[in-house]
Amino acid sequence: MKTTTRVAVIGGGVVGCSVLYHLTKLGWSDVLLLERSELTSGSTWHAAGGFHTLNGDTNMAALQGYTIRLYEELEQLTGMSCGLHHVGGLTLAENADRFDMLTAERAKHRYMGLDTEIVGPEEIARLSPITNLDGIVGALYDPLDGHLDPSGTTHAYAKAARMGGATIQTHCMVRETIQRADGTWNVVTDAGTIHAEHVVNAGGLWAREVAAMAGCYLPLHPMEHQYLVTEEIPEIVAHLEEVGEHPHVIDPAGESYLRQEGRGLCIGFYEKPCRPWAVDGTPWGFGHELLPNDFDKIEDSIAFAYRRFPVLERAGIKSVIHGPFTFAPDGNPLVGPVPGLRNYWSACGVMAGFSQGGGVGLMLAQWMTNGECERDVTAMDVARFGDWITPGYTRPKVIENYQRRFTVSYPNEELPAARPHRTTAMYDTFTGLGAVWGQQFGLEVPNYFATGKEPTHETPSFRRSDAFDAVGREVRAVREGVGINELHNFGKFAVTGDGARDWLDRIMAGRIPAPGRMSLTPMLSAAGRLLGDFTVSCLAEDRFQLTASYGAQTIHERLFAQHIAPGVTVENVSDRVTGFQIAGPKARDLLAACTRDSVDLRFLDVRPMTVGQVACVVQRVSYTGDLGFEIYCDPMDQRQLWTTLWDAGAPMDLTPFGMRAMMSLRLDRLFGSWGREFSPDYTAAETGMDRFIRFDKDADFIGRAAAEAERDAPPDRIAATFAVDADDADVTAYEPVFIDGAVAGFCTSGGYSHHTGTSVAYALVPRAALTDDLTVEIEILGQRRTARRITAPLFDADGARLRG
Ligand SMILES: Cc1cc2nc3c(=O)[nH]c(=O)nc-3n(C[C@H](O)[C@H](O)[C@H](O)COP(=O)(O)OP(=O)(O)OC[C@H]3O[C@@H](n4cnc5c(N)ncnc54)[C@H](O)[C@@H]3O)c2cc1C
Repeated sequence: MKTTTRVAVIGGGVVGCSVLYHLTKLGWSDVLLLERSELTSGSTWHAAGGFHTLNGDTNMAALQGYTIRLYEELEQLTGMSCGLHHVGGLTLAENADRFDMLTAERAKHRYMGLDTEIVGPEEIARLSPITNLDGIVGALYDPLDGHLDPSGTTHAYAKAARMGGATIQTHCMVRETIQRADGTWNVVTDAGTIHAEHVVNAGGLWAREVAAMAGCYLPLHPMEHQYLVTEEIPEIVAHLEEVGEHPHVIDPAGESYLRQEGRGLCIGFYEKPCRPWAVDGTPWGFGHELLPNDFDKIEDSIAFAYRRFPVLERAGIKSVIHGPFTFAPDGNPLVGPVPGLRNYWSACGVMAGFSQGGGVGLMLAQWMTNGECERDVTAMDVARFGDWITPGYTRPKVIENYQRRFTVSYPNEELPAARPHRTTAMYDTFTGLGAVWGQQFGLEVPNYFATGKEPTHETPSFRRSDAFDAVGREVRAVREGVGINELHNFGKFAVTGDGARDWLDRIMAGRIPAPGRMSLTPMLSAAGRLLGDFTVSCLAEDRFQLTASYGAQTIHERLFAQHIAPGVTVENVSDRVTGFQIAGPKARDLLAACTRDSVDLRFLDVRPMTVGQVACVVQRVSYTGDLGFEIYCDPMDQRQLWTTLWDAGAPMDLTPFGMRAMMSLRLDRLFGSWGREFSPDYTAAETGMDRFIRFDKDADFIGRAAAEAERDAPPDRIAATFAVDADDADVTAYEPVFIDGAVAGFCTSGGYSHHTGTSVAYALVPRAALTDDLTVEIEILGQRRTARRITAPLFDADGARLRG
């Protein structure tokens, strides 16, 4: 057996084999896969083998498209069969909301190059004559949907990897992974110890146990899952002979997926009375057995399926497959470098290995061989959860996710399981003021405050929600008086030490400010992609505070650790620094009423101040685009600071506002937002962030060469904002943009500017097409809406309020 290797991949399921293949494809041939039994000995062997592109996250959907297209390439390369059946698939819509969701998905597919279509009941009847159409409004048809042979496909990946130089060692159980001082690993197996530069955990059902060997916790949990295979069904045989193989049908109302298997059918369920499996750990002896049949659990689902597909009622059951597979709390995989560890990578929590395995393998291999991926992988980044996550949180979230597998998901939806998990000292006070809570990165965050008859729960919707008026009221309070909200949901870092400035100059592409000042700066990858949009505050020559996205804090922490240098200390203080933002024309008066210090801060000044009796750092900036101050304090002082501001604000009608109002207010000044306008999918020059790059600074900042190349040869697409002739629904994200009748771009986000009464869309469009008076069409929920370019902020265009 090999005793040294560049990469040791632990686990020979479809995911481990895909990672191995993609590493060789990208040029790393000294790679070794260790499998405790035979290949496919975990979830992989009992999968139903179905694949589809549908995924709420656009990047995940694109990677699913990649996975599906890869199979033919794999077959050609290896000469092996993946048992492909590209039969196409229907996802049924039984109500208007689901139809809206599918229509929105279809719209996204237009610019992604996915050839899906919305079909009506007649076409559904033609494609799937066994479907009872009672109550069916329409469906999304995807010609790429299909199924394959799970074992054949896994072995094809394995063969392709071997052809690229990889070694596969079966019957080789990994017992321990021990990190050496130089960051490499001793991988201790039954057959001896292997010295590996990198370890990839692709342990599937045992990923938790494999992670524990490295001293880390991965938030995933196995769930039981069951599907039935029927005996021959005459209608299916007739269809096969007259038309061909029956397509897949997902019936979300019945929580089922159905496809042809042989001359019968195969139907699986995501039932509400589902059960987590192996709560206290996956037994090492498990692998080749199935779980006992459990018809009680799926009784209601079967009854529903009999109504939807009446042929099933007459069909005999040939076999029942009941096995476990793993999920992360949000159902997406856990991929990438595990925070806090060196050279340790996760390829775990892949709940749809045959839809996602190729994309996971490709992204991980790019990350390992190249240092970054070609697209934004936040949706599956293992660092999208922080160290606050525990098995006690993961389990209810995984159950919720399983139960909601086929539930309509809305852009403004808040899921209830395992909440509240993390709260600040303001939680009860804000609840008393009517806070309607959302959550970010495990933290409770007010979406808005319901007063009077305003709804205390926001009904999820693709259209403007019932919180519309409450949000409008909060926006008015800010623009006409003064509003207050909490600063708990910013990612915050303290950067200190003699080397802090030089280090920041290298990490950040923008200007690092002088003491007492702030600046905005992009953080770039080597390839020039956006990794962050930071606000840097210089508190002293050797002391800086960075603020950015709360949800991206562990991703940023991991990047900082990767680039750390002598003389610098970087601490994630996101939850150790908090405070309030006050914004609106009366914000300065409010601050003045709370302090004896001078409040004559200029725009982007930062300064220590005593507010009431609390030691604070006050910054003259506000994402609302208004006159505003961010007032930071120690969390232990937060209630005291609140009392000071709230009491002093009472005569000024100080109004608490939430994230919904904040996201509307930012539209007035056309501010972009992390994860929407700014993400690793885009470069600085595409998004307009290049205006913050300091090409004239001395430092060789990361991404400089790529940014300079873009400066000299600007990219083909560019960000632009539009006012949309919307009706009752605004842009959320990824709606296609039509120019002269053809899809030419897509939206990154949008919403309703309550202050100006404008429906705003942010989009990426071809640079060549961009004129000041560009008029486009944007497809919102199946309707093409006229949208005219906006070139100046809708509010305070001269910046008098913001900077005054
Ligand atoms: C009933 C059922 C139906 C499904 N249907 C579908 C479907 O239609 N489409 C779809 O895409 N997905 C489906 N899935 C999910 C699919 O099976 C999984 O997404 C996929 O198999 C995950 O693969 P994996 O490689 O991550 O994990 P696994 O298949 O669990 O592989 C992990 C491997 O790691 C090995 N291993 C673990 N620990 C060690 C160690 N310490 N040393 C050495 N080796 C180790 C194990 O032996 C195992 O072979 C289904 C799952 C079930 C249960």
